[in-house]
Amino acid sequence: ASLLGRGDEAQVRADDRHVFHSWSAQAAIDPLPIEHAQGSYFWDYAGKRYLDFSSQLVNMNIGYQHPRLVAAIVEQAQRLCSIQPAFANDVRGEAARLITERAPEGLNTVFFTNGGADANENAVRMARLHTGRQKVLAAYRSYHGSTAGAISLTGDPRRWPSEPAVPGTVRYFGPYLYRSAFHAETKQEECDRALAHLRELVMLEGPHTIAALVLETVVGTNGILVPPPGYLDGVRALCDEHGILLIADEVMSGFGRCGEWFALDHWGMTPDLITFAKGVNSGYVPIGGVLISDTVAATFADRPFPGGLTYSGHPLACASAVASIRIFEDEGILANARMLGEEVIAPGLAELATKHPCIGEVRGLGVFWAVELVRDRATREPLVPFNAAGADAAPMTQFAAACKSEGLWPFTHFNRTHVVPPCTSTPDEVREGLAMLDVALEAADRHTTG
Ligand code: PLP
Repeated sequence: ASLLGRGDEAQVRADDRHVFHSWSAQAAIDPLPIEHAQGSYFWDYAGKRYLDFSSQLVNMNIGYQHPRLVAAIVEQAQRLCSIQPAFANDVRGEAARLITERAPEGLNTVFFTNGGADANENAVRMARLHTGRQKVLAAYRSYHGSTAGAISLTGDPRRWPSEPAVPGTVRYFGPYLYRSAFHAETKQEECDRALAHLRELVMLEGPHTIAALVLETVVGTNGILVPPPGYLDGVRALCDEHGILLIADEVMSGFGRCGEWFALDHWGMTPDLITFAKGVNSGYVPIGGVLISDTVAATFADRPFPGGLTYSGHPLACASAVASIRIFEDEGILANARMLGEEVIAPGLAELATKHPCIGEVRGLGVFWAVELVRDRATREPLVPFNAAGADAAPMTQFAAACKSEGLWPFTHFNRTHVVPPCTSTPDEVREGLAMLDVALEAADRHTTG
């Protein structure tokens, strides 16, 4: 008999009594119990099917229950479930090799972590020790994880209850043309002014005090903010000028989400450290990591790195990363993500924008898109106020409820809904999701004045 029990609703009810959920007032939530999942869909216990336009937390890049990925995990479980990081291990070595081979040249080492937050923690630790400096520049409208250091880097309201931040974080504005902090009207202006702002910030803070600049290559949860041409190269040049390390957080944007292994492949920029997690194995087993440049790695050739994790390079996680990368290649999943973006999502969202006055802007690439909902297209007033909760958030809550009643699981954040399906989705699945979005957007249109 199964040691796990029946997997039925009685067991699910134990969740209500015993499980403490992330980011929530425990009495206020009623989590939907999920019975099973396959491909781009999951099902609740009532048998209702949802098309996942959120890829869970934008991590289910390969889709649910990919049979070859499941088989690889089972195979590894039968061979060796766990071995601590001080030993060498075949799948750990293979995972590191495959990941470094897909990274920009000069990043040849991986430090494996349990997820994205601890990847960022360790990247910053490496930067501080490598440079002997303390400050880190981090962007407003960013998310880097919820552990002490990662939440300090985070530039969205989730950090507010944890402030004051770990000392040494300095905040900057990244480019966001639709709501420009620089009163820019073109991509070029936004790029130039965002770089000028950074340059001045570095001067005022003292370049010799700054260890690293952290950015999400394409900002994820805070709006799918695609950098304008020239921005990443400009940041790289500024960092080089002052010996500041550039850390690219590719936790959400990497491994297929932007139609490439890394989002930065679109711009050919090489950071000193890259953090990853999520899409590397779609979260079938928790894993993250830091890709380290040869220069930074050399700092720790003779000097011990003061950090470690019991599960760094966990064999089940590494086996699933190895299998996932091979499946991505065998099945042309990066090309599928690019095709979905160019041929289905971009035209589909453009058409929705012509029909729905609540749509202020659509933007994105690959399977990484944002729809910005507004009350008024002319003023760009967001559909709900920044960080709205309770009654203030009602228009977005109603929109999300409309999606769910249609059978679409949306990803919403503030006044935006993101279109972030698995990279393995079919064009018909994405069209089906866009049709459900079309219906749900009518709920948002009712709050517009346009
Ligand atoms: N960095 C980015 C860009 C993310 O989107 C996330 C999670 O959403 C993280 C870091 C944190 O990753 P984790 O939740 O695995 O700690």
